[in-house]
Amino acid sequence: MPHFIQAKSILNKTKRRDSWFLDDYTINPYSGCSFNCLFCYIRGSKYGVHMEEKLAVKENAAALLDKALTLRARKGQYGYIVLSSATDPYLQIEKDTRITRVLLEVILKHRFPLHVITRSDLIVRDFDLLDEIKNQAILPSDLTGLAPSGVLITFSFSTTNDAIAHIFEPGATPPSARLNAMARCLSGDFHTGVSLMPLLPYISDTSKHLHEMMGSFQRVGARYVMPASLTLFGNGPSGSKVLVMRAISKHFPDLTEKYRRFFEGKTAMPDYYLDALQKKMKELSRQYALPDSIIDWPQTTPEADSEALS
Ligand code: SF4
Repeated sequence: MPHFIQAKSILNKTKRRDSWFLDDYTINPYSGCSFNCLFCYIRGSKYGVHMEEKLAVKENAAALLDKALTLRARKGQYGYIVLSSATDPYLQIEKDTRITRVLLEVILKHRFPLHVITRSDLIVRDFDLLDEIKNQAILPSDLTGLAPSGVLITFSFSTTNDAIAHIFEPGATPPSARLNAMARCLSGDFHTGVSLMPLLPYISDTSKHLHEMMGSFQRVGARYVMPASLTLFGNGPSGSKVLVMRAISKHFPDLTEKYRRFFEGKTAMPDYYLDALQKKMKELSRQYALPDSIIDWPQTTPEADSEALS
């Protein structure tokens, strides 16, 4: 049985729009995430090792959102809503709860633009509403002429290999099904791309693996690929660092020592690695004609942040 809660608020106004994700606002219809990715940055003592056990549905989400967007629209404060930043909007449970679908109806009513970020293929269920949002959304004035659409759809991948994804993203839709869903989004004329986050060192960041992934994204017609490296947090039993290190020891024992050196006492990969990865991804972006951001920002705009979302 799903666990239902009454949320105090649902629409979060971000302090500053991230130039990759364009998040003026974020909404999380669920508390926790049953996709249970080992590297997930929301992990920690709050959700435990098996995040699906603490998953909760925000029962009053639609009413809260209606109220919040009524006020924002009245003041003309239109901006992209990112769905979601700390859960996936298309968890398995969404088939029954339909909370995300109801939130889309509210977003459509108030004509806010939307950026969906997901590791699921369930999004195809909501093409009817997404199409209407796309046609009716009012873009924030500073993005008019820059943002390509009132609806953006980003599929997140740490790999396109189903077996490897099963280890690191055990509850998410297999990447092969995500790629099929991407193709359907693109056929439906939705501006759709990839957040290649996080790339797993020595696993999905190898030249061979990167070429395979970029080839797959190019074949389905992705509009952009935004890459980021792995960050790991927490030394407690449910911390992402502990869970990823355990998976590496079990499934990739030859990499244990390398990962230990990278992450012992640290959360991010070393600068030399980040520089090399950035250079490699720039080359691949050119080679596969896959831009590394949604918006082709004018030269004066600061470089994109690398804060990873879902
Ligand atoms: S990374 Fe995203 S999809 Fe995976 S568990 Fe975290 S919130 Fe869910």
